[in-house]
Amino acid sequence: MDQRAVCAGCHRLITDRFLLRVTDGLWHEECVRCAACGDALRNSCFLRDRKLYCKRDYADLFAVCCGGCAEAISPAELVMRAGAAVFHLRCFTCSVCSCRLQTGDRCVLREGQLLCAREDYHQCKSVDEEEEEEEEEGEEEEEEKKRRRNL
Ligand SMILES: [Zn+2]
Ligand SMILES: [Zn+2]
Ligand SMILES: [Zn+2]
Ligand SMILES: [Zn+2]
Repeated sequence: MDQRAVCAGCHRLITDRFLLRVTDGLWHEECVRCAACGDALRNSCFLRDRKLYCKRDYADLFAVCCGGCAEAISPAELVMRAGAAVFHLRCFTCSVCSCRLQTGDRCVLREGQLLCAREDYHQCKSVDEEEEEEEEEGEEEEEEKKRRRNL
């Protein structure tokens, strides 16, 4: 046993009978407190920059915010990434056409706005194209009718 254990919290020797091991460091029992609210940490604690935090404060302080709705993303939540930005699954949509982007979809992050890869050439999304298609279908039907009439 190393008798000269140094507390990772206050950096003083631990001479107490009780010491706590948190991740790789040893701590005075009384030093295992949340660096933000000062609560004693009993069940779970989170280590960041050599400071301990309770779950609530850790989530508040170091939460990753969604690039879409700017709300915190809980560590357990599924996320989508675009460059350095992280998004809720539900927020990972194109900011122009609102299409839902999938993993592996090509997308662009421009000035904090997520754009689908189609954005480059669907600036004014071609409603015309779709209408044209419908018209074509209509024409075909008419042609068939005509043909039938001819028969
Ligand atoms: Zn200490
Ligand atoms: Zn706390
Ligand atoms: Zn979001
Ligand atoms: Zn789009």
